[in-house]
Amino acid sequence: MSTVAAANQLKSCPLIINGKPQISRGEILTQYNPATGEPVAEIPLSTREEVSAAIAAAQAAFPAWAATPVLNRCRVLFHVHQLMEKHADELRALITEENGKTREEARGSFQRGLECVEFAAGVSSMMMGETVEHVGIGVDGWSTRHPLGVCVGITPFNFPLMVPLWMFPVAIACGNTFILKPSERVPRSSVRIVELFHEAGLPAGVLNLVHGTKAVVDQLLSDARVKAVSFVGSSAVAKYIYSTAAANGKRVQALGGAKNHSVVMADADMKHSASTIMASSFGCAGERCVATSVVVAVGDAAEPLLHALKQAADEMKVGDGCSPDTIMGPIINSEARKRILDYIDIGQKEGAQLARDGRKDPVCKNAGYYVGPTIFDNVQPSMRIAREEIFGPVLSVVRVKNLDEALEVVNGSEYGNASSIFTRSGKVAQEWSAKAQTGMVGVNVGVPAPVAIFPFAGWKGSFFGDLHALGKDGVKFYTETKVMTCRWV
Ligand code: NAD
Repeated sequence: MSTVAAANQLKSCPLIINGKPQISRGEILTQYNPATGEPVAEIPLSTREEVSAAIAAAQAAFPAWAATPVLNRCRVLFHVHQLMEKHADELRALITEENGKTREEARGSFQRGLECVEFAAGVSSMMMGETVEHVGIGVDGWSTRHPLGVCVGITPFNFPLMVPLWMFPVAIACGNTFILKPSERVPRSSVRIVELFHEAGLPAGVLNLVHGTKAVVDQLLSDARVKAVSFVGSSAVAKYIYSTAAANGKRVQALGGAKNHSVVMADADMKHSASTIMASSFGCAGERCVATSVVVAVGDAAEPLLHALKQAADEMKVGDGCSPDTIMGPIINSEARKRILDYIDIGQKEGAQLARDGRKDPVCKNAGYYVGPTIFDNVQPSMRIAREEIFGPVLSVVRVKNLDEALEVVNGSEYGNASSIFTRSGKVAQEWSAKAQTGMVGVNVGVPAPVAIFPFAGWKGSFFGDLHALGKDGVKFYTETKVMTCRWV
């Protein structure tokens, strides 16, 4: 622990290079507990020399790791799985302390992270190439998959453990080495999981961890030793990462922001729809890339749905995620809270009707960063609150006459991450699935986040790149193909 951290009893946050944790000599950021507003840790940002040393360590470790049999590489992930289960309570508590998630949300996101490790542990069969005999007379052709080299992951604050686990387990199982740059707002979950990977037997240098903001990211994007970049975060930064890293000759997948819609038809089970949409919109305090941010109520659905939504929001207990009865936790920090409150002002100025004002919930007076569930009714698709990502517990209800109008609203969005439809009609659901221009689609599901065996990403302004995260796309992203043509003489 640094002297300053020790004096204030703040937790420290090492970087990890070549398997060794060390305290950086860079500028120090303070991390605050979102539930209480109290400082909890010091985050020293990595220096240029430290970032360069991390890249050098990853590059040096690459040849031996790439030559390690794939089954041996995957075996490390089985050990990681055991260690994650052993340390599950500790990891979940860390997620709540850093990010503010409730115990249940921390449990869910830990489980999703664990599933990414399970997926990566089975990567060996997806590393297989293809063979065609007799592509010519006496000639066979076949392909093989090869790791790329040093890969980089840059992650957001909203899922401190799960989003990093979308990236490096698959990357290293495929034989790459990796440098993780987690969000400077929630880096300690990443430190702990990288430590567990080493405890599980991962050789030094295969997985490295640095801390920082734009300067560190820019260094990683411009270093010629880095071959591929995976990014998850807001769209403006995703676009920047994509264009900068691609211009520097790197392979890039950059998952951006979202404005997700749930369409509710009049034939839907209103109670189920309302409670599912509530959980989607206000779970994780609305800080989730697949959260419903706009409800499109079709025809007669609007009145009963709004009534059920307001009732469910009133019953939602907002507070410290550590309390077992808390349903919705705090916002990540004071800047994010201010941005959300500004959007509520904007919605009112734009003429939307504030059907539930989360600013009035008593919890907002507590220390920490709270905003209660907020619902706007009669929102027009052209309003900023209907178009821009708020990333907080603010739900807009747009009323439309029919499915075609609903499609217009959803497909008119500049984003295309996820959308859902709530209906009892298979025909309507099928039409929706076919026509919705989003990368992830749900039917009677509020959070249509696919499990790790499928690729994860959006369309349009929610994604910059070609191959999505996880699933077969993830394996293709972290490998390149070589094709042999052989005449057997
Ligand atoms: P962010 O874009 O502010 O930060 C993401 C990462 O980029 C962090 O590691 C940060 O240090 C770095 N960064 C920030 N500004 C940068 C800059 N100018 N240049 C280079 N690097 C920079 O995102 P956030 O606030 O941490 O996370 C919330 C966002 O992430 C939301 O927009 C949310 O929709 C998105 N998100 C998307 C997905 C998805 O699957 N599409 C998943 C989770 C979160």
